[in-house]
Amino acid sequence: MSPPKSYWRLAVPTPLRRRFDYLPPKDSADNPQPGIRVGVSFGRSTTTALLLEQVTNTAVSPDRLKPVQEILDTEPLFSPELLSLLEWASTYYQHPIGEVVSNALPAFLRQGKPAELKGEKIWQLSTEGQEVNPSSLTRAPKQAALLRLLIDHPGGICASNIEEAEMNNWRPAMRSLQDKGWVIVESRSGLPGVQSVTALETNTPELNEAQQAAVSTVCENPGQFAVYLVDGVTGSGKTEVYLSIIDQVVARGKQALVLVPEIGLTPQLVSRFTERFQARLNKPIAVLHSGLSDGERLNAWLMAKQGEAPIIIGTRSAIFTPMLNPGVIILDEEHDLSYKQQEGFRYSARDIAVKRGQLESMPVILGSATPSLESLENARQQRYQQLVLPERAGNASHPDIAVIDVRKQPMVDGLSSLLINAMKRHIDNGGQVLLFLNRRGYAPVLLCHDCGWVSKCKRCDAHMTMFFDRGNPRLRCHHCGAERPADHQCPECESSELNPVGSGTERLEETLQRQFPKTGITRIDRDTTRRKGAMQSLLDSVHEGSSRILVGTQMLAKGHHFPDVTLVGIVDVDQGLFSADFRATERMAQLIVQVSGRAGRAEKAGQVLIQTHHPDHPLLKVLLDEGYPSFANAALEERRQAQLPPFRYLALLRAEATDVNLPTNFLQLARELAESIGVKDVFILGPVPAPMERRAGRFRAQLLLQSSSRAELHNLLTPWLQQLENQKMSRKVRWSIDVDPQEMF
Ligand code: ADP
Ligand code: ZN
Ligand code: ZN
Repeated sequence: MSPPKSYWRLAVPTPLRRRFDYLPPKDSADNPQPGIRVGVSFGRSTTTALLLEQVTNTAVSPDRLKPVQEILDTEPLFSPELLSLLEWASTYYQHPIGEVVSNALPAFLRQGKPAELKGEKIWQLSTEGQEVNPSSLTRAPKQAALLRLLIDHPGGICASNIEEAEMNNWRPAMRSLQDKGWVIVESRSGLPGVQSVTALETNTPELNEAQQAAVSTVCENPGQFAVYLVDGVTGSGKTEVYLSIIDQVVARGKQALVLVPEIGLTPQLVSRFTERFQARLNKPIAVLHSGLSDGERLNAWLMAKQGEAPIIIGTRSAIFTPMLNPGVIILDEEHDLSYKQQEGFRYSARDIAVKRGQLESMPVILGSATPSLESLENARQQRYQQLVLPERAGNASHPDIAVIDVRKQPMVDGLSSLLINAMKRHIDNGGQVLLFLNRRGYAPVLLCHDCGWVSKCKRCDAHMTMFFDRGNPRLRCHHCGAERPADHQCPECESSELNPVGSGTERLEETLQRQFPKTGITRIDRDTTRRKGAMQSLLDSVHEGSSRILVGTQMLAKGHHFPDVTLVGIVDVDQGLFSADFRATERMAQLIVQVSGRAGRAEKAGQVLIQTHHPDHPLLKVLLDEGYPSFANAALEERRQAQLPPFRYLALLRAEATDVNLPTNFLQLARELAESIGVKDVFILGPVPAPMERRAGRFRAQLLLQSSSRAELHNLLTPWLQQLENQKMSRKVRWSIDVDPQEMF
């Protein structure tokens, strides 16, 4: 009698919405553990897959099944709870499980490499090298610079230390030093991808009453799932609350996972964590950011998984990092859009954090000065517990916010004289000024004065932005990336009267240089911070005080502390007031509050001036007169009446193709399929063209599903997308489903 058959059910990285069954490998262990990786042949190639479960039944005829070729792991990469989380995410976001698993793995593990800590090269001076004077190497400046760095680091340096010192292309110079016998190299494992800092004296302030209450509430029931919304204005001490909670979690031998919107933008936060914990814990803090090499990322991930890193700090995708001893998840700036992945696997790290807390029985903390309307509604419904920090910590006072009605005012390139005069006043009094404009480049459009031609992108329904590259005017489309030199002559009428219209941060900086010729100005936007380390050196010039005016995009709104900034100017708030996207006013309000939070920290009182053509806009008025909580109440009431989230659940089916009709035809078919499945309480709107119909040469359309019941919506989605995937037409268009979409285009 042959033994009962079993099959291995795998997550295979492919866009197909299903699991794949394989026969066990020839020499298989009896009880394979779910969560291990295996090598399989798939189609015409081989790939790395993950074992989800062992089953006794398969829908595929067994003689058509192939055996697993090899087993790659001896122990599972994911615990049963994390496997459930991945399966949940796949179902909830209607995304293929194979791609969900890939998304959760570091690149090396996706590629089938071993799950082992990687060694890293460490360079150190040899005894002979210690005798060399770097100044003697006048003709080899790179070697000299490396020598100086090595002298400063007697314990040795690794590649990222060298890159942090802003040295490029240094490897040949290092090889020369090794060849001379001045430098020795060795391989050490364990630490790369992990911050190492020397012990620093830090003072832990005594928590005020509200902070203390928040910490005790969270720590009252360790090891139990609950969601807390820490709602406190900028500077109210949220970070101190996180630090105290982590303190207690770590003391119980548990791990803390901290998510932030963008690590590169918030170096101060990371250093606050390392300063506070590193010396005492004598264990590394794993920092998962986009600047890591694949080896460093794997190491940090493994140290979290093995419980060797008590604290893990990362951005969106770090939400899937396994922890041996899960203790708490903290998600800072929970309203931030960057927690939602906007392509491929369109998940929300915030919502996954909540699910993960439930599966792994730990508290989840969502913090913000401007909580999302979704989270506030969850708090009202008692699903989350709101912990309010009403006051700025220490002695800092609230800024004074006022509107400048710019209608009929004389303007200089978008700046009113009222704002310019206020800037002069603050600078003369020794303060710094922060000007915020959410538009980069020189000007959003180039216009022909004689015939009205405008610089449109050939492949998108959008204008091309003018900017300067080393003095040369160029045009760039911010939607498809197309770029070319700016026209000198109008392509329509050959006139040379071409004028940049409107202003972006680049032009604002130029205007300010004319208005304030003797004042140091720093511009911070994506164009000025592209180079590694650029952000830090720009921030340094602000902190040293050599720069008195800061100009920037929303990058500036995120978590920076500028203690000497006394005036914040919001140059143009009107963009956010009349957008097609129903979330635009919420974003505008969050931005105003976040940017305003940069003013008047420490002991200096701050002032905020907002330029607008619509001083009577009702939501803007509520925000400025009564503050964010009242704004949120009013905005929630609007959402309720308009039957929008969080009172309704949405899913958006998008389609695009180079043919103008295909996307709409496909979505029409999708609509008919959905209607034939016929689920009650789901309303279907569309198909309609996307707000920007053409992008990068493709036409785009969308179909919106709306329901008052999440369950009903999901009851439709699962069979519907399965059927849709089997339609011939589904292979002629690019399509995707977005559950809980954050941007409606
Ligand atoms: P948030 O994260 O809400 O912006 P932080 O935790 O960064 O606030 O605190 C803002 C500033 O106030 C920091 O410089 C912090 O050291 C200080 N601070 C926080 N809590 C206290 C406290 N209880 N007493 C004195 N200073 C505090
Ligand atoms: Zn013209
Ligand atoms: Zn374009």
